[in-house]
Amino acid sequence: MKFTKLATLAVAVGLGAALTACGSSQKSVDQQAAAGGAAGGLVGVTMPTKSSERWIHDGDNIKAALEKLGYQVDLQYAEDDIPTQVNQIENQITKGAKLLVIASIDGTAITTQLQEAADKKIPVIAYDRLIRNTPNVDYYATFDNFKVGVQQATSLLTGLKVLKEDGSPGEGKGPFNIELFAGSPDDNNATFFFNGAMSVLKPYLENGTLVVKSGQTAFNVAAILRWQAATAQRRMEDLLTKTYSSGDKVQGVLSPYDGLSIGILSALKSNGYGTPGQPYPVVTGQDAEVASVKSIIANEQYSTIFKDTRKLAETTVKMADAVLKGGKAETNNTTDYNNGQKVVPAFLLESVILNKGNYQKELIDSGYYKAEQLR
Ligand code: BGC
Repeated sequence: MKFTKLATLAVAVGLGAALTACGSSQKSVDQQAAAGGAAGGLVGVTMPTKSSERWIHDGDNIKAALEKLGYQVDLQYAEDDIPTQVNQIENQITKGAKLLVIASIDGTAITTQLQEAADKKIPVIAYDRLIRNTPNVDYYATFDNFKVGVQQATSLLTGLKVLKEDGSPGEGKGPFNIELFAGSPDDNNATFFFNGAMSVLKPYLENGTLVVKSGQTAFNVAAILRWQAATAQRRMEDLLTKTYSSGDKVQGVLSPYDGLSIGILSALKSNGYGTPGQPYPVVTGQDAEVASVKSIIANEQYSTIFKDTRKLAETTVKMADAVLKGGKAETNNTTDYNNGQKVVPAFLLESVILNKGNYQKELIDSGYYKAEQLR
């Protein structure tokens, strides 16, 4: 009895001391935060837009992981407006950020701000998109973007049955009419995706299995500025009117991003596709956004590329923490990402082709989405 009382007392005293310690350390965090930094310092995170769901997950995941390590985070979105992003980065530098994580809108538009950052010895991590034409970017965390393009084209071929899932030749012999879309020309990734896809499609275009009936095979005509769904929808309408009004059908569309795929599918729908007599062409995508996964389940969009943004955030936060502690970040590619001034050391993650056959395993079983989100 006596022992229990004493023990209780000891625990209570200990707890009190711990609480006091907690209180004072909390106070100092708050004080530091008010002075522009937290225990681990302020990290500025800038994301392009909230109009695409992936960037919301990216931002939230980075913020939560950095905060868990004791950093204070300023997370900003610019709704795809370049001057807004420029101001956000400038503000973060002024507020005393110790490191910047930037998913740029235009990879060439923030050179001045990055010079300022370099002058103040603030390290910069390019997030998902390479920042170009500046020596002032220290690391790059991304997926293997060329491979994403390879996967998009491969799934287009699988959807057309030119290839089987295991990569061996399928019964689809063609010729199949396809059309090509590319991403935003100011996003370095867009060329990587397109080149990766073309590396796979080229032999099939050369041997006549695939035909780009509009003749629009160059990146600059296929590119959709700022990845806008409405622009993709207009271009698809245009292609259907100009190239397919005589009765020929489009059987495949290379789309590099789910948002564009949605625009492309609505253009197709308003032109009579999506019925038993005239099914949708095979349409690809990227990001496994909820609307597109639902569309895949409903047999509209054929595939997407799943890039687990949880892993990208984790990789980036590891990089940031290593650098902020005065060390070097781990990288696995020091050759592919020349930004015009230097090769930026990068960490590349792997992506997965996603279709109706594996979405359950990749997205639900892995906890990326809850089953009810896809209903
Ligand atoms: C990203 C893609 C995304 C696209 C549009 C690219 O930079 O890598 O995941 O689909 O931007 O937001």
